[in-house]
This record gives sequence, structure tokens and C-alpha cells, in this order.
Amino acid sequence: MGAPVVAAAALASTRTGRRIVIGLVAFVVLAVAFLLVPLMVVPLAVAGQSVTTTVETRPAPVANGDWGYPLAGGYTKGRGFGHNPVSGCSYCSTNHQGYDMAQGCGATVYAAGPGEVITAGTYQGYGNTVRIDHGDDIVTLYGHMQWNSLRVAVGDQVTAGTPLGAEGNTGKSFGCHLHFELRESGRSVDPQPFMAALGLPLK
Ligand SMILES: [Zn+2]
Repeated sequence: MGAPVVAAAALASTRTGRRIVIGLVAFVVLAVAFLLVPLMVVPLAVAGQSVTTTVETRPAPVANGDWGYPLAGGYTKGRGFGHNPVSGCSYCSTNHQGYDMAQGCGATVYAAGPGEVITAGTYQGYGNTVRIDHGDDIVTLYGHMQWNSLRVAVGDQVTAGTPLGAEGNTGKSFGCHLHFELRESGRSVDPQPFMAALGLPLK
């Protein structure tokens, strides 16, 4: 390495020399880049991975059959279903229509079961919301997600584990959490026994 560096230093002392050195350096950088790119891509292709699958850092949510948890990994339980006032929040409903669970602002929210997205955006007091129609008059709702975080659109077909958006604090919310709601024939019901019957008990 010594001789080329000395030669480069000598060349760099004149204006024309500097141009030559810059050209040589650019050539070497490009040559190395062309050599390295195939070396980096080939092992990934051999391993059967695509670059996009490495973006997700959290594990997939636990699933049982066609259904799974709307959050991956551990979570903090918030309010349960029914009469449940929030102390310090005058605008929060006292008759809670869902089940609150939290991992932290920005955590990925997943579809709990297979179906069609029927809401993806602002919905009543739920802020940025996704609703999924699962057929058999069953709809799940995922409320309070961060603005501009939704990864699905109305009409999309999803399955359990499809990322929907990011946990947030939009709408009538008091801190980042997922409001997970279940509706049967248009009426809100307690998600806890429903999920437990699927082998996916909530806290
Ligand atoms: Zn809630």
C-alpha cells in the first residue's frame, strides 16, 4: 500500500495530478461496488430471503388456526369491555365497547382474522381506524392508530397477521393503545370470551 499512496501524494501536489487521483479513486470505488453487489445479493437469494422481510423486527403475532392476536408479543392490558370510566379523561366513553391493549406508540397492529377491510381511516371517535368484515356478521375494529400509518385500504383481503398500521393515540384516546373491538350483527360484544373460544385468551 505504501508505494501507491506516495505516488498519489506526489500526483496530488499539482492540479492535473489531483484530477488524475480523483479519477482513479472514483474508478476504484465503482469497481469495488460492482464486485461487492453480486457478492451481497447472491447469498441472500441462496438463503431464500428477500430484502423486505428483514424490515420487520417484531415476531409475527401468535395465531391459532385462522385467527391470531392483534399485537405480537407481550402487551399491557388497558380497559376491558363494559362500564369502565377513564380517570382524568372527560371525553372518553364510560361504557367501553372494546378491549384496550398496549405495547407502546408505533407498535404494529395486526389483523386478528381473515376478512375484507371495510374501513381504513377516520371513524367516529376512534381516530384512525381499520374495520374488517369477517363474514357471519362478525366485524373487528382497530382504533386510535397513528395518522398516516395504515398499511391497508378499503377492499383489501387480509388474514390474521396482516399488518394494519401503528399503535397510536388518535380520536377519543388517552395515551397510545390499541382499542380492539368486536361486533356481532352490528352490536359490540366482549372480545375476551370470543378470543378465548378461539384458543387465544386475552389477559
Ligand atoms: Zn378502548
